[in-house]
Amino acid sequence: MATLQSLSIDRSSNQLLLQVDQPARYSTREDNGDYVVTLSPARLAPGATPPAVYVGDRLRRVTVSQRGPQSVEVRLTPDAGVTIGELQVPNLRLLALPLQRQRQDAGPISSSTTGSSSGITGPIQVTLPPGRPGSTSPSFPSQPVFSPDFSLPSPSRRAVVVIDPGHGGPDPGAVGNGLKETEIVLDISRQVTAFLEGQGVQVVMTRNGEYDVDLQPRVDIAERANATVFVSIHANAISLSRPEVNGFEIYHASPSGQALASAIHRSVMQGVSIGDRGVRSARFYVLRRTSMPAALVETGFITGAQDKLKLADPTFRTQMARAIARGILQYLQ
Ligand SMILES: [Zn+2]
Repeated sequence: MATLQSLSIDRSSNQLLLQVDQPARYSTREDNGDYVVTLSPARLAPGATPPAVYVGDRLRRVTVSQRGPQSVEVRLTPDAGVTIGELQVPNLRLLALPLQRQRQDAGPISSSTTGSSSGITGPIQVTLPPGRPGSTSPSFPSQPVFSPDFSLPSPSRRAVVVIDPGHGGPDPGAVGNGLKETEIVLDISRQVTAFLEGQGVQVVMTRNGEYDVDLQPRVDIAERANATVFVSIHANAISLSRPEVNGFEIYHASPSGQALASAIHRSVMQGVSIGDRGVRSARFYVLRRTSMPAALVETGFITGAQDKLKLADPTFRTQMARAIARGILQYLQ
């Protein structure tokens, strides 16, 4: 079985490159404006994360996920006016997707192709999107296999944000100074959700009450929702004998998560009066196991002399929620 080892954007040739350890079978299809490459049978290497996407990369986002034991899905959302060209196989261990600026004269063509990077395996699957122009002629592999023949709505309207309030129910998280992490983060998370929904963003919460949710089910919720971003919300703690430790921290475990974390961090530092303990990297379970950009927010120290007063204050919690939501929106846009 092939392993997808890495994904990268080659900015000199405008291609998304998928590195595999051996020839891989693949199929491609269009899905609601996204271009999807499925490698099967294949698995995703533990360290294989989507590349950071910057303005000018001709992509809005790239996600990668293991779909069941035998298949890996890479999903590209192209920028407006960008066509994903036919998948190329420059060598047996490399798949390349050209990111082409759409030609004025290019008619809408939409089809799906299958193939194998070994060049000897026959088609394994053909999936045609129903009712798309051109779907009756999927046998022109020299044509672009994806061409948006409709206008892409703004990213914030298409985005799905998963908000993950830490802990819950029998697991109160950090406890001290009359505060319970689980209650504080649920309140903030509900407000983040309300602000985002007010902006037309679809939000899924991993819990919305005081009950137990294990870590893997939180990841599963995000994967099933095909989330654009995952944001876990916590409150911090250290020994009650260290009241001098206060401040906001945010964690990521991948380059795409770092961009998300930085956007939220910037927004919180602008909009909330709290100490800055920076953007940090840590391999928390929910950051490691989610395939989309993910960040874990530590909203403040319930053990801190200053933060305990802030976290207990509903006005502060609203400011924090608003700033987190604004940071997520800024990342999405
Ligand atoms: Zn926590």
